[in-house]
Parts: sequence; C-alpha cells; structure tokens
Amino acid sequence: MTDRYAVFGNPIAHSKSPRIHAAFAEQTGQTLTYEAILAPLDGFAAAVAGFRDEGGRGANVTVPFKEQAFALSNRLSERAQAAGAVNTLTFDAEGVLGDNTDGIGLVNDLAGNLGLELAGKRILLMGAGGAARGVVLPLLEKAPSELFIVNRTAAKARELVAPASLPASFNRAGKALKDTVPSGHNAGATLAAGGYADISGRFDLVINATAASLAGDLPPLPSGLFADGALAYDMMYGKDTPFLAFARSEGARCADGLGMLVEQAAAAFFLWRGVRPATAPVIALLRAG
Ligand code: NDP
Repeated sequence: MTDRYAVFGNPIAHSKSPRIHAAFAEQTGQTLTYEAILAPLDGFAAAVAGFRDEGGRGANVTVPFKEQAFALSNRLSERAQAAGAVNTLTFDAEGVLGDNTDGIGLVNDLAGNLGLELAGKRILLMGAGGAARGVVLPLLEKAPSELFIVNRTAAKARELVAPASLPASFNRAGKALKDTVPSGHNAGATLAAGGYADISGRFDLVINATAASLAGDLPPLPSGLFADGALAYDMMYGKDTPFLAFARSEGARCADGLGMLVEQAAAAFFLWRGVRPATAPVIALLRAG
C-alpha cells in the first residue's frame, strides 16, 4: 500500500503543501501520496485519528490546529515543546510524535537560501502568536547579539520571554548564547520584549510574524529601523505586503515567507522519509505560479 500523508487545516483549499510534497516525492523517487484534508473546527482530533486508522503515516498541521496537534501528541520533540505548537505529526507503533519544523524552516531559508549570517546580529521579531513562538528557539541557537520580540499586546511578548514561562530549552539556548559569545561587541547578547513604542536602534533583520499582513495592515514601526544591508522578512507569501513596501521604502532588502514554507515542508519530509529534498527547484516552481 502506498504511504499516505496529509495536511490538516481549516480552511485548507489554498494550501501549497500537496504540491510541495508531490515535487519532493518525484525529485527523490519516493512513492507516497499527500492530500489536503479540511478538518471541522470542532473535529480535528477525530479527523486525525480517522486518517491514522486508515493507514496514514504522518501529517502536517496548519491554522488553527497547531496547539491541538501539540495536545494530541504523546511524544514531543524539544523544538515542539519550545514552540508550544506542532506542525508535523508522525504516526508509529508508539503513538504520535509531534514536532515543529516552522522555526528550522525559517532559519534554513534565512541562512541557506538568502545567505544571511545570523551570529552577532540584532534581530527584531514582530508578533507573539504561534508563528513567532515557533521561531524563537531556532533563532537563539544561531547566536544573534539580540533578539527583541515586539507585539501589539506587549504583555504577550513579555510573557514569551519571562524566565518563569520559558521552556528549559529557551533558557539553555539563552544561556548558551550568553556563555559562548566572546567579550567584545557581541557581549551582552539579550532576549528581550516589549511593545512597538519600545523599539529603539537599528536592526539587521526584522521578521514579521504577525497576522497584520493578512489584513493589509502595517504594524506601527518607526522610521530608521533598518541597519545598512538589513533584511526585512514577512512570513506571509503570495503578495506584496504593507510591511515589505515600508521596508523597501526604508532601503531594506526584502523576502517573503515562501522559502520558509518550502523549508518547513522539507524538514517534515526528512523526518518521515529520511531523505532531504532539494528546496531551491521547488521554491522556483512555486514562484513560477
Ligand atoms: P496568530 O493568530 O497566532 O498570531 C497573530 C499575531 O499577529 C499576534 O501576535 C497578534 O498580536 C499580531 N497581529 C495581528 N494583527 C495585527 C495588526 N494589525 N498589527 C500588529 N500585530 C497584529 O498567528 P500565527 O502566529 O499563526 O501566524 C502569523 C503569520 O505568520 C500569518 O500571516 C501566517 O500566515 C504566517 N505563517 C507563515 C508560515 C510560513 O511557512 N511562511 C508558517 C506559519 C505562519 P496580538 O497578540 O496583539 O493580537
């Protein structure tokens, strides 16, 4: 029987994941099917259980079910624990393994496809929802000099970095960061948070992990925010956003989240199949329409 995989979401018709995984399978010679499944808003766990009972081997999970996927996993990777959300499920004899590949997807896009060196850099992360939470640990592991998390509801961003609420892995990465940065201009690497009024100085990388672009909104960013050669990264993809238009007008280099989408899928494919697909041709395929 052909191995079956799927992505669960609501809505799901727009999902590019079936196309991405079909391209990965063709490229690597793997025999599998990958379908998009619309789970009822109140029936995610039942939909996943049904798919598993029918022989499903694994699944991706998207909006709005990532927290529910976290809850139904009986084992969690460290990065899923740190994120508090799961986007990749693997079904095996021991149950359901929950993982989160969004963060590594972003970091691989930044470092691999966009050639960005993150060590020693000042990073501004906008948003404190699931997407932001998933990328904090992978970003910290790249030893930036500072990661400042900003959110419309500032208390939510502060909660994200409060020692009491941080998973052990956050503390370890934060500690490792402080322990390993040499004295000099990188000393004093910090993880901090606040509201938009608290933003000060210039950043080498500004990531939009808010849902503002979905509504065509621009978070209230100050002018002069981007350092020379800075990159503005919007996790949204498929159309120009007010954030990228603002960044362009401020002289920053711009990137959308399509590379992140393909990279998180590649990390999931590797988990399931043990084969690492080449992502560049698939990103190019999707960009071509
Ligand atoms: P959530 O609903 O969990 O979080 C939304 C966040 O956006 C909150 O921090 C919220 O602030 C903030 N926000 C919403 N509207 C505005 C606004 N008008 N101005 C400023 N801040 C705003 O969403 P997710 O974290 O799941 O997703 C965020 C984005 O990331 C989406 O666009 C999604 O498509 C994208 N994404 C892309 C991926 C990829 O692979 N490229 C992967 C995952 C997500 P507050 O707390 O104040 O409400």
